[in-house]
Amino acid sequence: MAERFDVVVIGGGPGGYASAIRCAQKGATVALVEKKSMGGTCLNVGCIPSKALLASVHFLTQAKHANLMGLDIQGTICPNWPKIIARKDAIVAGFTKGVTGLLQSNGIKIFNGSGIAIAPGKVSVSGQDSAQLECKTLILATGSEPINIPTFPFDYKTIISSTEALSLEQIPASMVIIGGGVIGCEMACIYAAVGCKVTLVEALSHLLPNEDAWVGGLLAKEFKKLGITSVVNCKVTAVQTGSDGATVQLEDGQAIAAEKVLVAVGRRARCDKETVENLGLKMNGSAIAVDKRMQTSVPGVYAVGDAVGTTYLAHGAFQEAQVASDNIAGHSKQMGDYTLIPRAVYSFPEVASVGLNEQKCAEQGVDVIIGKAPFRANGRSVAHNEGVGEIRVLRNKTDDKILGVTMVGASVTELVAAARALIGSTEKIEDICFAHPTVSEVLKEAWEDAFGLSLHVPPSKK
Ligand code: NAD
Repeated sequence: MAERFDVVVIGGGPGGYASAIRCAQKGATVALVEKKSMGGTCLNVGCIPSKALLASVHFLTQAKHANLMGLDIQGTICPNWPKIIARKDAIVAGFTKGVTGLLQSNGIKIFNGSGIAIAPGKVSVSGQDSAQLECKTLILATGSEPINIPTFPFDYKTIISSTEALSLEQIPASMVIIGGGVIGCEMACIYAAVGCKVTLVEALSHLLPNEDAWVGGLLAKEFKKLGITSVVNCKVTAVQTGSDGATVQLEDGQAIAAEKVLVAVGRRARCDKETVENLGLKMNGSAIAVDKRMQTSVPGVYAVGDAVGTTYLAHGAFQEAQVASDNIAGHSKQMGDYTLIPRAVYSFPEVASVGLNEQKCAEQGVDVIIGKAPFRANGRSVAHNEGVGEIRVLRNKTDDKILGVTMVGASVTELVAAARALIGSTEKIEDICFAHPTVSEVLKEAWEDAFGLSLHVPPSKK
């Protein structure tokens, strides 16, 4: 006999578990179906494990500069890779357990198995749990998967995706990373820091091509100091695998030997074919088509997160889950401007941005004044030996509104929420007091510079 709920959610990643909790908070009876470990890509093979590895290797990189800070270290500091991986796995396991507990404490019934929608309001679960579920509203949060290059597909041994790269048994001697996007830049830092010879190949004109060219240029310069070779404007044409690695052919004629080839050319939305067909869902390629209310083409069926192919970001999924659950509870909510969802890259140095960038303003014909401030002029940053990078604030010449902020530097991902608060504002910042000395003062300086009011940066030419 079918078990009845107000809401059934398929998928336990950030989109799914946030939707389930939000709906439960609004009084709905909720079931969540997950076939693997709770937490989805973010928690198991994405944001959290990569940040755990980055934290270990960041510590190592800092320690290697101990001398600069006036410290003599006796003996050598070297990575113990199995311990680094074990630490990462323990962090992931802790959070996975935490999310499961959180769902249970919100009264959500968890079904461990594969959930297929057989009709709107009807879900069949098979696997560890076997059940038939009925609901008034269904939320699809089925996530995404790494994009495969058909001419040299993943063999999961030599040609790997980010999933395998997060759990390699040993540090490879060399790695070619195809794709200089978010995953490519973060993984390059992880492996270069532990002594792997990394070549990062990006098809477009600069690393992180969704950001402005100066960001990619600055990263390539800093990556070089970490031993990373960046090749831009260049595609990989072929990969030949052998017993001890691969040869990667670039379109500029270079052939690079590498023990591992990490393909990081984006992710693709995913939803079970049976669910799509049974419901007759309208799709945008592999992504489930939704309106601004996160409603699919089928009444009573919502979709959120990577499955809708909008941001491929956990915090984008949280926002969409909030909107979907508000609508399910009878309110009328819409997703707003997607450029206001912050972007954060945890490379060395970090990159964070929100709103429009210079490239987008130029494309839209918007004239901007660019306020700039470097970290090298900030006391706290220099004291921490972290004087690399810059913050740029874009002010609309016509109405003075702040349109976007782009930041490159240590810990800028922690400043992006503050940067978000500036967007759309015309307020002059000089009346707001920032603690001194803090890294956040660089954001204030760049904002001030956009109005010709910077205290510690000479007036720039406008
Ligand atoms: P991405 O879209 O960020 O980058 C892929 C890059 O590959 C692009 O720069 C593209 O130009 C390049 N590319 C494509 N085909 C190529 C080819 N044949 N040769 C060379 N370069 C090629 O995708 P990703 O880095 O794989 O990340 C996947 C998704 O996961 C992204 O949407 C990303 O935002 C998300 N993610 C986010 C974070 C974070 O927020 N910190 C971390 C990891 C992943």
